[in-house]
Amino acid sequence: MKKDTGKAKKETVGVCVRCGKSIRFDEAIIIDEKLYCKECAEKIKMDEEKSKKLHKSVKNRMLGGVCGGLGEYFNIDPTIVRVIFAILLFVPNLRFWFMPLIYLLLWIIMPEE
Ligand SMILES: [Zn+2]
Repeated sequence: MKKDTGKAKKETVGVCVRCGKSIRFDEAIIIDEKLYCKECAEKIKMDEEKSKKLHKSVKNRMLGGVCGGLGEYFNIDPTIVRVIFAILLFVPNLRFWFMPLIYLLLWIIMPEE
């Protein structure tokens, strides 16, 4: 038996595994079988969407946002990605259409942010 938690915490269903706050039944959100409060669940969702998905960047957009998106995904400066792309354009062993083709493929594959 649980000990008596009192009237005020009557509706409490558990404690948020992220911030430790007690959660009432109407604000409990379960992600991966863990209990989170509303605020933490939203933060986790946002973090996941930002970091895990490879997407065309809206913020770092120059051509199609592909370089910016790659930069954000790998956590490197989008400018560096563009420079790498530019350098690869002039690598003699690669055909001139190779990098634009890759860029085009990424642009088609990657979803909008
Ligand atoms: Zn929380």
